[in-house]
Amino acid sequence: MNKPIALPWSAAQSAELYGIREWGNNYFSISDKGDVTVSVAFAEGDVTLSLMDILSGIRQRGVPLPMVLRIENILESQIARLNNAFADAMESSGYQGQYRGVFPIKVNQQCQVIETLTQFGEQFSHGLEAGSKAELIIALSTLTPDGRLIICNGYKDEEFIDLALRAQRLGFHCVFVLETPTELPIIIERSEALGIRPKIGVRVKLSSKVSGLWNSTSGDRSIFGLTTNQLVEVIDNLKAHNILDCLELLHYHLGSQIPNIRDIRNGVLEACRYYVDLVKEGASMGYLDLGGGLAVDYLGARSNHEHSKNYSLAEYCTDVVEVVMSTLDANDIPHPHIVTESGRATVAYSSMLLFDILDVTHFEAAPLPELLPQQAHELIHNLQAVLENIAPKALQECYNDATYYRDELNELFKRGQINLRDRSLGENLFLEILQQIKSLVSDFHRVPPELDGLKEYLADIYYGNFSVFQSLPDIWAIDQVFPVLPLHRHNEHPSREAILADITCDCDGKIDRFLDPESRDFRTTLPLHPMVDEEDYIIGVFLVGAYQETLGDLHNLLGDTAVASVRINEDGSFDLVKELEGDSIADVLSYVEYQPQGILENFRQTAEQAVRSGKISAVERRKLLECFTDSLRGYTYYEGQMTETD
Ligand SMILES: *Cc1c(COP(=O)(O)O)cnc(C)c1O
Repeated sequence: MNKPIALPWSAAQSAELYGIREWGNNYFSISDKGDVTVSVAFAEGDVTLSLMDILSGIRQRGVPLPMVLRIENILESQIARLNNAFADAMESSGYQGQYRGVFPIKVNQQCQVIETLTQFGEQFSHGLEAGSKAELIIALSTLTPDGRLIICNGYKDEEFIDLALRAQRLGFHCVFVLETPTELPIIIERSEALGIRPKIGVRVKLSSKVSGLWNSTSGDRSIFGLTTNQLVEVIDNLKAHNILDCLELLHYHLGSQIPNIRDIRNGVLEACRYYVDLVKEGASMGYLDLGGGLAVDYLGARSNHEHSKNYSLAEYCTDVVEVVMSTLDANDIPHPHIVTESGRATVAYSSMLLFDILDVTHFEAAPLPELLPQQAHELIHNLQAVLENIAPKALQECYNDATYYRDELNELFKRGQINLRDRSLGENLFLEILQQIKSLVSDFHRVPPELDGLKEYLADIYYGNFSVFQSLPDIWAIDQVFPVLPLHRHNEHPSREAILADITCDCDGKIDRFLDPESRDFRTTLPLHPMVDEEDYIIGVFLVGAYQETLGDLHNLLGDTAVASVRINEDGSFDLVKELEGDSIADVLSYVEYQPQGILENFRQTAEQAVRSGKISAVERRKLLECFTDSLRGYTYYEGQMTETD
């Protein structure tokens, strides 16, 4: 490989290239030293730490890569920002109700996340949203019965309903949100049997449609929520049982990651119409629950692109408050408490996935022979001729010719008419042609569209020690884009263009879409630094705190990564508050119903037979079994060598 030419480069240029100021939400930035930093606010001002310094401290304590690094301060800060933004919007407009947020547990169920959120959220009365029995159990065991909301969504059976009703006796504020009319008779029957008045909400299907990736939850055909007919039926049923005053909440959820503020306003407006009529029907009401949808600007584009959002948190709150006030004031109805179920925006920022690069493949020609062999195929001579005649004015023609000859050679190889060495020589000439074209295109980042494919074809593959399927399932499942960048070396020019491959050997196990601050859209390769021998190169995937941690699967039996939760202190130090070991190989094998003990037993017997038949010695058997048991206990990811100083 050619020695890279070191261009002058600065941390500021890196910040621009990776768009960190745009998506970092004032948490992430790049220091003059060239490290990615994290900043958290304290009364006396911000404290900023290098992520490389945090990482090295955690690795010294024994947590291996890959890992999810969680910054507890950010979790808390996001809860504070959300509550303060609503409080500010309400105060400045004279709103009479309060903001009563809930965190939807499904977005990140990790015990430690829920504990941090609920402890810190106490000062704001921030509650929880539970979509299943298991999540209700989490809510009841982490909250104290202090009246914070527990919004019960999802299908509720008798057991679920009994539990929530009895919990109400302790002082928990559980609201049953009706998803279908069939839940109501069970709620009525159980509350009469237990003598406990239920707190009821209704989930409506709004006809407002929203754009974005998750928009199928919106509109008339949305699978969740009551139709207007069903809502009328519910009201009549409540009236008939004399419990219309138990109806206190109206809920809707238009879907996650709503990029356009107009859609948000439209949803609130339509919901307010329902709210007004429910009050007029005689329901007590008091709460208006707007569900989730508050977006995260993964692209940093501030646009209505599906991975972005065209509004700030302050605008979101102001708009919601304004629409509610104007609709209800016109009808002389008191302002309700506003509930939102923001999950993504609350937790996305706090976690990042960190991994090391294990290997790189470059697509560069091996040294070419001075002279082509006499008997070389005509197509190879043609490629040689293209190479000798590359002209800056005819790049596209050269590119097309080279591609044609290369494809023809591949065809001949398939038919057995040329051999492996011929094909390799042809491939080499082709790569050399592409490299020369590339060097003639002055700015490789902006490759002309007629040279379509050139950039992707020449991109390096950086192999990262992680699994997309386990740690970043949305990249694979729904083409989610997350900010990705190296944690260090930002004073050096990132001269390579690369895609990232994981270690699953699956062709989908890769990241090949990245944000492009310049075009405010995607790009297909990521600028990275050339690897330096014997030095770690650490990549961070950011904003992965929402939805990624429990959706992941065990593709190739790569298990959960280690998790390190860190709290940054005011004096600039940090504590490793909690560490979770990643899955061992024995763990993942047991998930698919193998018994690690039985596996070991089988292998012992195979080894024993080998000793008996003289294939190996008794000592070799012991060594082999040690190796086997070490592997069973080992991490499912690539384990690097730890040195004394590491
Ligand atoms: C998923 C979900 C949420 C969370 O949405 P975010 O966009 O992550 O804030 C809220 N409410 C309901 C009912 C959900 O299903």
